[in-house]
Amino acid sequence: MPVPLLDLKAQYVPLRDQMIETITRVCDSQRFILGPETEALERELAALVGVPDAIGVSSGTDAILVALMALGIGPGDEVITSTYSFFATAGCVVRVGARPVLVDIDPETFNLDPRAVEAAITPRTKAIMPVHLYGQCADMDEIMAIAARAGVPVIEDACQSIGATYRGRQAGSFGAAGCFSFFPSKNLGAFGDGGLVTVTDPEFGKRIRLLRGHGAERRYYHQKVGGNFRIDELQSAVLRVKLPHLDQWTRARQVNADRYRALFAEQGLDDVRLPVTRDDRSHIYNQFVIRTPRRDDVKAHLQAAGIGCEVYYPVPFHLQECFQDLGYREGAFPAAESAANNSLAIPIYGELTEAQQAEVVGAIAKALGR
Ligand SMILES: *Cc1c(COP(=O)(O)O)cnc(C)c1O
Repeated sequence: MPVPLLDLKAQYVPLRDQMIETITRVCDSQRFILGPETEALERELAALVGVPDAIGVSSGTDAILVALMALGIGPGDEVITSTYSFFATAGCVVRVGARPVLVDIDPETFNLDPRAVEAAITPRTKAIMPVHLYGQCADMDEIMAIAARAGVPVIEDACQSIGATYRGRQAGSFGAAGCFSFFPSKNLGAFGDGGLVTVTDPEFGKRIRLLRGHGAERRYYHQKVGGNFRIDELQSAVLRVKLPHLDQWTRARQVNADRYRALFAEQGLDDVRLPVTRDDRSHIYNQFVIRTPRRDDVKAHLQAAGIGCEVYYPVPFHLQECFQDLGYREGAFPAAESAANNSLAIPIYGELTEAQQAEVVGAIAKALGR
């Protein structure tokens, strides 16, 4: 029985009629850019995250980019971030002309190590950008304290962590900016690209809004050089249909994660390391990432059995070809390098059945000779 890594159709089918109706309504309105759907989505998501404002943007990448631009970060500046994340995290820092100062991860949670952040502060540090990887928040108390001591803002890359909590607070509610992605494979996925910036200071939110539309409040009168970072009305409308279900979808992922833990234990696979969730936070499992030194064998076996799996991420930033001029060497960040070599994401989407999960764990057991 093949098991896909993600089955978007299973989520779509029960919502199909409502989706078609909603899309038809937007088409009939012929209002495609910055209309009532986007305004409503922004209000609903600001309320969900618990912040005074949220700005819909064109992608998670553009959320990070516009946040960096709004903070005035550019040439000569440094932004401290994790070496282990999706490319956009460090790519956007380079795009504004600044230097990503990379730090290693906590080997248990894959999130950046606060002690390494502290050690990387210099007089040129202009921001700290933690990533809440796979659906679990980074160590925000420690990171916020380090940022406060250094007098620099925090940008949260919360692209994988909508709805994740840390000591009762939502991802994206800590820093000056919280960046979210609605790429279809994220827990809240659009029918295309989309993103969001949450802000804790409404004045900073105004700056993001200005830059989202080429820095012009009044059309054709440009106060700043921004970009076209807008979200489409169609995407906002689709996201608003999905939003009321997000909690339930997240719970389904958490139930599946617990079930995996039971299944791995039943098979006696205690040499496979399962995701570690800290007591003071919730995990929304955008990915369920296991670790084994025999990762490549397991991956090949799962692929041959028709079971979806993926390596997130095979190459940390410091070893990427395009970042060689940053001057990092192999061995610089051992925890990230080890994660790149032994981690594997397996299916965790909410509609996954118990039988499918048993199939996945059975195939992993077989690959490991059990
Ligand atoms: C998905 C993702 C992004 C980028 O989001 P897009 O919407 O694909 O541009 C940035 N950072 C992380 C950690 C992500 O997972």
